[in-house]
Amino acid sequence: LTLRPRATPPDHPATRLDNYWLPFTPNRDFKREPRLFSRASGMYYFDPQGRPVIDGASGLFATAAGHARTEIADAVHRQLSELDFTPSFYRSHPLAFEAASRIAGLLPTGLDRVFFVNSGSEAVDSAMKIALAYHRARGEGRRTLFVSRERAYHGVNFGGVALSGLVNNRRAFANAGPDAVHMRHTWLAQNAFSRGQPEHGADLADDLLRLIELHGAETIAAVFVEPIAGSTGVLVPPKGYLERLRAICDRHGLLLVFDEVICGFGRTGKAFAAQSFGVRPDIITMAKAITNGAQPMGAVAVDRRIHDAVIDAAPDDAIEFFHGYTWSAHPAACAACIASLDIYERENLFARGEALAPIFETRLHALRDLPVVADIRNYGLLAGIDLKPADKPGQRGYAVQKALFDAGLHLKTTGDAAILAPALVAQPAHLDEIFDVLRRVLARQS
Ligand code: PLP
Repeated sequence: LTLRPRATPPDHPATRLDNYWLPFTPNRDFKREPRLFSRASGMYYFDPQGRPVIDGASGLFATAAGHARTEIADAVHRQLSELDFTPSFYRSHPLAFEAASRIAGLLPTGLDRVFFVNSGSEAVDSAMKIALAYHRARGEGRRTLFVSRERAYHGVNFGGVALSGLVNNRRAFANAGPDAVHMRHTWLAQNAFSRGQPEHGADLADDLLRLIELHGAETIAAVFVEPIAGSTGVLVPPKGYLERLRAICDRHGLLLVFDEVICGFGRTGKAFAAQSFGVRPDIITMAKAITNGAQPMGAVAVDRRIHDAVIDAAPDDAIEFFHGYTWSAHPAACAACIASLDIYERENLFARGEALAPIFETRLHALRDLPVVADIRNYGLLAGIDLKPADKPGQRGYAVQKALFDAGLHLKTTGDAAILAPALVAQPAHLDEIFDVLRRVLARQS
């Protein structure tokens, strides 16, 4: 490891800690004791003093090929020097088409019309609008209700908040958004410490039938699920569950949307979880690893028949879908996306991640003996560890997350769950280091 220490911020005399309002962070506590990264390389972050912190979460599920890949940096630099920006309405540029085609090549057959956005949240809200536009184009404009799931995370824009099943993310905002109703989540006590897909709970999908009976299929536009519910702590779908959801959606004309913002790009061993689980949704949302985290970008992959219904419903010279962003298919993001997909392909990273998953699983479940561990779940290179709560919910997770940083490991916590998602380039020795730090820190919790 080459350590290249940098001055501790604030570097510029005008820099103050209080101007920056951090997202999803206890700002006052953070500013008392900022935990900053100032550099990254491969599997490691470095703090401003040059201390390495191994990355057990691919940043935030984004850097699948490891940090600071020069191929991506070079591609972005080249693109910005050549074409820095083009309007995305009425104009485009060649890399937008190349990026869409390359992504289409990874998707299930026929799910190959790609709408670009700049984040996972925008992907979700765009997918909701596409679902509404599709039904309207077919004369079924009454279908405006969305179904999602308890404990779901679909980003923070108003559509995604309506779909959210995480109470804190909804409480202050949810009544202002579109209408959504929620199925049961898929955590069952009898599945505790399952490895891979749990045995019990396929019938939880029948909860969708209850909502159909209550609201009427003719009012429902789409069902949104994360194939693996990630942010809530990694809930792997029980065997048969997604298949059953698919069958119910087909029977009642509901679109099935997989939110693969975390699962996409090899996290589950295949390009998309749709392929790992063998269930084909109608729409897939993605972001994060689409550029290996190097540029903000997201996308919605849409089944051709949905795309064609929306396009064909409009006159030939009219805008078909009144939606899009200034930075949709930004040239730098497209360049980062293509360079990332090149790396994934050249280094065979999805297969490498799949091959590493059994080693990851074994090391992960070895933590089971720790008194603070309440449950462990995993699939591919994604895992959640439930910690027994301290006095208040979330207190343990927050303390552990700070202690892990101080001990040299970065991972994500949500409430009292610790979430692991190492980069697909990780070597077994990196996993050893991650789990050694984790064991040491968790063993100190009582
Ligand atoms: N959907 C899912 C499943 C996610 O996990 C996330 C972020 O973690 C989002 C949407 C939102 O993505 P973003 O933070 O890029 O808006």
